[in-house]
Amino acid sequence: MIQTTAAVIGAGHAGLAMSRRLTERCIDHVVLERGEVANSWRTQRWPSLRLLTPNWQTRLPGHDYAGDDPDGFMTADEVVDFVADYAKVIAAPVQTGTTVTSVRLGSRLISDVLTTTIPPGLSASSNLSSEGRLSTMSACGRLEIGDPIG
Ligand SMILES: Cc1cc2nc3c(=O)[nH]c(=O)nc-3n(C[C@H](O)[C@H](O)[C@H](O)COP(=O)(O)OP(=O)(O)OC[C@H]3O[C@@H](n4cnc5c(N)ncnc54)[C@H](O)[C@@H]3O)c2cc1C
Repeated sequence: MIQTTAAVIGAGHAGLAMSRRLTERCIDHVVLERGEVANSWRTQRWPSLRLLTPNWQTRLPGHDYAGDDPDGFMTADEVVDFVADYAKVIAAPVQTGTTVTSVRLGSRLISDVLTTTIPPGLSASSNLSSEGRLSTMSACGRLEIGDPIG
């Protein structure tokens, strides 16, 4: 059994931004990702796709677009690189190849997160979806139930 304060599900833009915010607040956590970082952009986009938002709008907490074409539009591959770079820069504790199959509220607000790869499970006092909201009280006590992170 792995124990951590928070479990973030998904290592896309939202999950990694959440990880960065948790790190800023010294909240230990793990990011569980069924595929690889930026999995949706690796597996659910088509080769010719470009973002409809310009590069200058592509930013994550503490990580802005730094290229020489701020008015351009990233390809899907460039989005993958941008998100993967971000995961490295923030040293996100991502566990790839780990599908969350169940999240269950236990006693004293401790939740069990069942995954495909961490037998027999993971215990986290806060489960964070990629939606950006806390579902339970954080260990630091600075965040209330349902408080937005960000
Ligand atoms: C075709 C298309 C074009 C888009 N173009 C733009 C654009 O131009 N500009 C823009 O701002 N936005 C665009 N978006 C929206 C874009 O997807 C979001 O801005 C952003 O990628 C969403 O990030 P996310 O982290 O919320 O979701 P995702 O990137 O989808 O990340 C979710 C992650 O969770 C993982 N996951 C899901 N379920 C589980 C599970 N049970 N266990 C473990 N891991 C799990 C997934 O593998 C994935 O890595 C577009 C979306 C699509 C589909």
